[in-house]
Amino acid sequence: MKIKSVETFVLESKLPVAFSYSQGVVPRRSTTLVRITTDDGIEGWGESFSVSLQPPQIAASIVDYALAPTLIGADAMATDVVWNEMYGRSRDYGRKGVVIGAISAVDIALWDIKGKALGKPVWALLGGAFRDRVQCYATGFFRARGRGESSAMAEEAQRHLDNGFEIMKVKLGFGLQDDLEVMNRVRDVVDGRARLMIDVNHAYGSSDAIRLGRALEDFDLLWYEEPVIPEDLAGYRRVRTSLAIPIAGGEAEFSMYGFRDLINAEAIDIAQPDICLAGGFTALKHIGAIAQANGIMLNPHVWGTAVGQYASLHASANTPSPQFGLYPSQPLFEYDTSSHPFRTELVTEPLEHKDGWLSLPQTPGLGITIDLDFVRRNSIRY
Ligand code: MG
Repeated sequence: MKIKSVETFVLESKLPVAFSYSQGVVPRRSTTLVRITTDDGIEGWGESFSVSLQPPQIAASIVDYALAPTLIGADAMATDVVWNEMYGRSRDYGRKGVVIGAISAVDIALWDIKGKALGKPVWALLGGAFRDRVQCYATGFFRARGRGESSAMAEEAQRHLDNGFEIMKVKLGFGLQDDLEVMNRVRDVVDGRARLMIDVNHAYGSSDAIRLGRALEDFDLLWYEEPVIPEDLAGYRRVRTSLAIPIAGGEAEFSMYGFRDLINAEAIDIAQPDICLAGGFTALKHIGAIAQANGIMLNPHVWGTAVGQYASLHASANTPSPQFGLYPSQPLFEYDTSSHPFRTELVTEPLEHKDGWLSLPQTPGLGITIDLDFVRRNSIRY
């Protein structure tokens, strides 16, 4: 079964209301989708996640100009071989960032094809499911503008409780005083009914990151995400050794090589590759092995479209706990609580949690049917 065509779709959707996080204001969401078709007519879909304000045209160009020409005629089932070819051929200008994001989209599409060809969901092909459902945590707590919105954050915490979430992640990184104000208000609402984690999106240097962590030490946080910039491995280690809170990171890291360095630096307790950025299913298998060998939990970052959400769910099903026993820790699913059409309208069966849990898809491949009319309506000229 050979690859016959590789197509890219650049999607952009203006948000009705822009939102803020510690790194800036986000007025739109965008993504790059890839459709691969084989010579016997099977098609697979993949996504390259557009981070923040990343122009989605970059990933599309890499697929179109760098990857597609070498993919035509390749064995669509040979996902390891194709991944190594794509990575090796782009090594001198790739290795991190959007090039690996483009490779991710192709790899996800090929696993979708493999599942459809063999009549199995991707999680079964990866080696089986360690669990038949995955617990979600609510990700949200974005700001309308920035500081001074603790009342809105408290209301949002109540909404997540009402919707059945028992775990939620609060966006911080707006300065220590504002961060603590938000956390105190959220804790008052939650009142022991949910576990919390925090994410500052690398807004701080290691000294301020430690100060925030110490101020929150009695919050029993599940994790503290991206305390410092991804390049500052010594800062990560300093934060990790200074606090009793598990440190999470990796949404801005790529492939087995990047995670090898992050883990060797003793920077993190929890690895968070994004399947639509770090290299697809194939790379998550590599990263998962390195994480497991170091006693580190793999907990994928998820903020893409329905394609990325489904891919992450398959990967989470196949992720082992680094411990073994009756009650080992389990990977959690990052559940985007914003209402966005790329999540809810791109596929005919969008993922919807039930009381904070997602069941595994049972149909072949990723288990999605793309609404092509929606893709056409939201595609931009590129
Ligand atoms: Mg994050």
